[in-house]
Amino acid sequence: MPSLHTMGQQQDRRSWAEPYKIKAVEPLYMTSRDHRERAIADAGYNTFLLHSRDVYIDLLTDSGTNAMSDRQWSGMMLGDEAYAGSENFYHLEQTVKECYGYEYLVPTHQGRGAENLLSSTLIKPGHHVPGNMYFTTTRFHQERNGATFHDIIVDEAHDTSSLFEFKGNVDLDKLQRLIDEVGADAIPYVCVAATVNMAGGQPISMANIKAVRELTARYGIPIYLDATRAVENALFIQEREEGYADKSIAEILKEFCSHTDGATMSGKKDPIVNIGGWLSTNDREVFEEARNLVVVYEGLHTYGGMAGRDMEAMAIGIRESLDDDYMKSRVGQVRYLGMLLEQWGVPFVKPVGGHGIFLDARAFYPHLAQDQFPSQTLAWQLYLDSGVRAMERGIVSAGRDPVTGEHRRPKLELTRLTIPRRVYTQAHMDVVAEAVKECYEERESVKGLKMVYEPKYLRFFQARFEPLA
Ligand SMILES: *Cc1c(COP(=O)(O)O)cnc(C)c1O
Repeated sequence: MPSLHTMGQQQDRRSWAEPYKIKAVEPLYMTSRDHRERAIADAGYNTFLLHSRDVYIDLLTDSGTNAMSDRQWSGMMLGDEAYAGSENFYHLEQTVKECYGYEYLVPTHQGRGAENLLSSTLIKPGHHVPGNMYFTTTRFHQERNGATFHDIIVDEAHDTSSLFEFKGNVDLDKLQRLIDEVGADAIPYVCVAATVNMAGGQPISMANIKAVRELTARYGIPIYLDATRAVENALFIQEREEGYADKSIAEILKEFCSHTDGATMSGKKDPIVNIGGWLSTNDREVFEEARNLVVVYEGLHTYGGMAGRDMEAMAIGIRESLDDDYMKSRVGQVRYLGMLLEQWGVPFVKPVGGHGIFLDARAFYPHLAQDQFPSQTLAWQLYLDSGVRAMERGIVSAGRDPVTGEHRRPKLELTRLTIPRRVYTQAHMDVVAEAVKECYEERESVKGLKMVYEPKYLRFFQARFEPLA
């Protein structure tokens, strides 16, 4: 049996179930292996290029793939589609203030819109931005504005077998060293993510964010939070950190955010909607600049690329995401999938994170070199086996160094099974686990891929591959 440590606190209790029931359903389509062979070849062996009609269980991402509640759908009818001053904007602004605690809000079409505003507002060429591991779009906007990114996450985050409970933590020595080396003036802000997507959805502790706050305050460096998955992070703090067991997720979230100066948000994750995002800040000057810029890239400062109804659905979704029972079932479903895989000895990142299972593709295919794209290969094999769609998180996602032009070589070669919120059932998790098991049993006969088309930016989205002979 899996250890209590890896699976969280579900083992010693009776079964739990989702705190909702299904009101509308959407059909899924099964395909034959022949069909899938053609479909993945047409897609250049990149799961991003598949038609979703050819996918059975879609675990590509949990981004915007969420199921909204009846309350949110009702909210859609309350959309105030005014160009300026929409009612729904004020509702969203008030909700963010109450739930996350930030003073000022700039709405955007999704998370990267907020990253663009923050990066172009604060970063000057030659700056350095430290972060607890990179996120693809976040780092891209930092570098595009002339900054150098520095990974200051704890070493445990790069070790798939480490059972450290807060693998998202910032390594304070790494941060201090960077400040000593480049000087505080060259660091416009520290970028802290909670939970850390690229590390496998790993949380950062309250003690750690407080310590980062103390350190940066001495130098006057602000902290901007990637709050995309901060509600999931709050659940881990509640479960694992001393003194938080009796606090609600809502309380923990607000306390966590109070140690930061603002946040970028992809509404497509925690807030349980299909599109939207925002930038928030307590800094009046940053707000003024970002509110000015938003009209260039996104739309007026009271809609920022969202329809009024989208803002309403997000305001309602934020409150729903803070329900303790909901969040336990959300992460509980991920852990259930992990528990099945653990029983069968399948290698993946532990402890299980907030939003998905990250299969360790290096351990699947030790015979493949990193240049043969083991994570991409595993995503291809999974799709072939059962129509389950996963995503590469390895050397393809890491891209090339903008200075040397060389491949970045991340230690982690992961294939991500991401669980959309409120969409699939336990039976779907069983099917997925069996597909992974099948691929694991067949692992020795698998050959890798070569890249035959490489886009210039964020190449993982559109790159094309061919199987090695
Ligand atoms: C998805 C995501 C983003 C980017 O948000 P988009 O809405 O996809 O633009 C940024 N950071 C993290 C941690 C994410 O998961």
